[in-house]
Amino acid sequence: MTRAESSLPDLATPSAVLLVKRGTCNRARSACNKIRRAGLVACVAFLSGNGLHASTSAAEPNADPAFDAETLEHFQALVRMDTTDPPGREVEAAEYLAKVLREAGINTEIVALEPHRPNVIARIPGNDSRKPLLLMAHTDTVNIDPAKWSFPPFSAARDGGYIYGRGTVDDKDNVVAALMTMLTLKRAGTPLDRDVIFLAESGEEGTTRVGIQYVVENHFDKIDAEYCLAEGGGVTRENGRVTSASIQTMEKSPRAIELIARGPAGHGSVPLEDNAVVHLSAAVARVAAWRTPIRLNETTRTYFERLAAIAPPEQAQNYRDILHPDPAVQARADAWFRTREPRHASVIRTSISPTMINGGYRVNVIPSEAKATLDTRLEPSEDPEAFLEQVRGVVNDPSIEVNWAPRDLRPRGSSSIATEAFALLEAEFERHYGAPTLPTMSTGATDMAYLRARGIQCYGIGPAIDVEDGAKGFGAHSDQERILESELYRFARFHLDAVRALAASAPTP
Ligand SMILES: [Zn+2]
Repeated sequence: MTRAESSLPDLATPSAVLLVKRGTCNRARSACNKIRRAGLVACVAFLSGNGLHASTSAAEPNADPAFDAETLEHFQALVRMDTTDPPGREVEAAEYLAKVLREAGINTEIVALEPHRPNVIARIPGNDSRKPLLLMAHTDTVNIDPAKWSFPPFSAARDGGYIYGRGTVDDKDNVVAALMTMLTLKRAGTPLDRDVIFLAESGEEGTTRVGIQYVVENHFDKIDAEYCLAEGGGVTRENGRVTSASIQTMEKSPRAIELIARGPAGHGSVPLEDNAVVHLSAAVARVAAWRTPIRLNETTRTYFERLAAIAPPEQAQNYRDILHPDPAVQARADAWFRTREPRHASVIRTSISPTMINGGYRVNVIPSEAKATLDTRLEPSEDPEAFLEQVRGVVNDPSIEVNWAPRDLRPRGSSSIATEAFALLEAEFERHYGAPTLPTMSTGATDMAYLRARGIQCYGIGPAIDVEDGAKGFGAHSDQERILESELYRFARFHLDAVRALAASAPTP
């Protein structure tokens, strides 16, 4: 999926600021104790003072050239495999992963609905004192137009500090980070309090029936876990500097609404009051002008609170205002978002974008039917049927039917930010990147939706990406795709430490 958070607003972030609110200090303290127990560096920043803390150094907590070299080897091998979906050719990547995992002595199996679109599941056992941790990443990518690439899309070419290729930031970065974590834990014989499970699934980019949906419905016992780490978050860099990290805790629920206008057909030379095209156009305009009610939740409230603390004054004021109890103040911030930061205008509500409109077939015929489709993204707690009723009220035209249109439905669910896992991830982002963490709700969708609906607390993470890179056409799903090589390594090291913090047993005294 698109890295929704790569479009985070400009931030003038003092990297020395760590956003640990007073209310989360106990959690942070327990996170620190846990990290200590795992034999890692103590996160001094959490335990000093109160409120805002000075950052620890983000310099290479576990630099290891051999680890980086192996990360590169697997990454290039996987990027060189064409796994574009459609049609989906994940089998080569799945077999590669299974071979590498098995050679390391890790229990691995392949499960598939369609033989050429398999999923890989591997497990390193722990002592069962806690429920497992699942590491998930998808092997398929979106398609490419070869003419648009300056380096061939499956070359994994290294140039100017970047690695180029489809899937470099969506999602082979997560695949390789999870693979390196598995290999490192196994080779080191790290004692684990919980099983660590690896899942490389196919079909995330639009064919989930062969991927996560198939695995959840047929092999759930093999991936059932307390926590899951997957794509969807990341670290924002601006002007080469890290400004903030994001952990995705929830995502909107994609639906489609159809407006169908009906009226008498007729000769175009005789205008009719009941022209279906005219009624439909007016209805689309009314729906587009409608400001759906503002709906905030634990994640989005915390997101804006924390963002306000690190943003320049004008932006910060709007982030505070959107949380204001006075609807007039909120409405002003909402209007500012709509023109300046449209992603934020979507994050605060269930959103509607008219995306397709269809009617008529020749110039001199008034058609009897016209249809519009609205891309609708429900805020997770929205009641779908009540929302559809509201849309009917806004359309307010008896000649127009308002209904759900077919769309792959992802189940709904969200993860809490009040967990030990969230606090541990925050601590690791601080340690590796010197960055404050923002919990985020994606406007788009990921495979985590299926797991959250089964009660697994899922957190989306990812490597550092320059905000400027998306605009240049190098982001996820863009004409080209690339990752900073140094950031691939830093992410893999972060990933390993995060999993150690979540799963490693305390050293025996
Ligand atoms: Zn993805």
